[in-house]
Amino acid sequence: MDEKIHSSKTKKKKTKAVGLLSGGLDSTLAAKLMLEQGIEVYAVNFTSPFCTCTPKKAGCAAVVTAVKGLGNIPLKQVALRDEYLEMVRNPKHGYGSGMNPCIDCRILKIQKAGEYLHKIDAAFLFTGEVLGQRPMSQHKQALEIIDRESGFKGYILRPLSAARLEPTEPELNGLVDRSKLLGITGRSRKTQISLADEKGINNYPCPAGGCLLTDSHFAKKMRDYLTFSKKPSVRDIPLLKIGRHYRHHNGDKVIVARNEHESKSLKDLCHPGDHLLAPLNFSGPSVVLQGTSIPAAVEKIVRYTKGPIRKTAAIIHRFGGKEDIICLRDYYNG
Ligand code: SF4
Repeated sequence: MDEKIHSSKTKKKKTKAVGLLSGGLDSTLAAKLMLEQGIEVYAVNFTSPFCTCTPKKAGCAAVVTAVKGLGNIPLKQVALRDEYLEMVRNPKHGYGSGMNPCIDCRILKIQKAGEYLHKIDAAFLFTGEVLGQRPMSQHKQALEIIDRESGFKGYILRPLSAARLEPTEPELNGLVDRSKLLGITGRSRKTQISLADEKGINNYPCPAGGCLLTDSHFAKKMRDYLTFSKKPSVRDIPLLKIGRHYRHHNGDKVIVARNEHESKSLKDLCHPGDHLLAPLNFSGPSVVLQGTSIPAAVEKIVRYTKGPIRKTAAIIHRFGGKEDIICLRDYYNG
């Protein structure tokens, strides 16, 4: 009995670390390596309006799966909203191939994770970043900028590439065994995939998914939105994800549904100040008009309606809680 009490009193306190966990292969592996070193891992997962993951009730599906596979480690989920949009609008370090401000994005996420580190009194942060894997944010210089500008220089461990990087504080003061960390570099995922097999990690999502800001079509819509919107808000982002978007010469915008599902979504997503126009007695797309140019919106319905349009065709127009009927013969002489 006495012996038991004695051993619990002298039990060494585990080192806590906060890991940025996306649910992808790299961050899951990084967390696994930390757990194997006896570190108490607290995961933090960030979502933004630009995530392409499939949300579950409990959060991002991929991260929920990853956390389960890691033995149900504690998970803090942080939804980034207008503050994130403001960063996307004006990133200090510019964009990648689309509208992806990866360096600023990483700095912001590290800072947020750092707030959590202070709150739970953790010793360091870690990420699944791999040196040379992503062109914008994972080369040596970018990692140094992220470390410096986040305010956590020396306290961000990257277990998958640590052997190729300067030792961090937790390595220098013996909290982490540097000899057990990896030296992976480059875009190939072969090493990570075979390590995942070895460690029983499966069900991770493919690396292509993730962030809409890297998508060239979405980036075009986003660029246009940020140029014309006086007060950008994350509430507007869902509408950017659907439909064909047209900017009229007077600055009005018309969004055309590409299918029936999008027609329904437009109805659900349009804002109180938007006009919604939908075919009343023929089969064609719904459109949302942000502005005043009703003829521009009608023209798009006509243009994207397959097959002939009768002269008796009509459109239902909803705006400001009111409805009226527009007869196409007033606009269209086809
Ligand atoms: S791809 Fe998107 S989520 Fe990932 S770092 Fe870049 S901006 Fe951030």
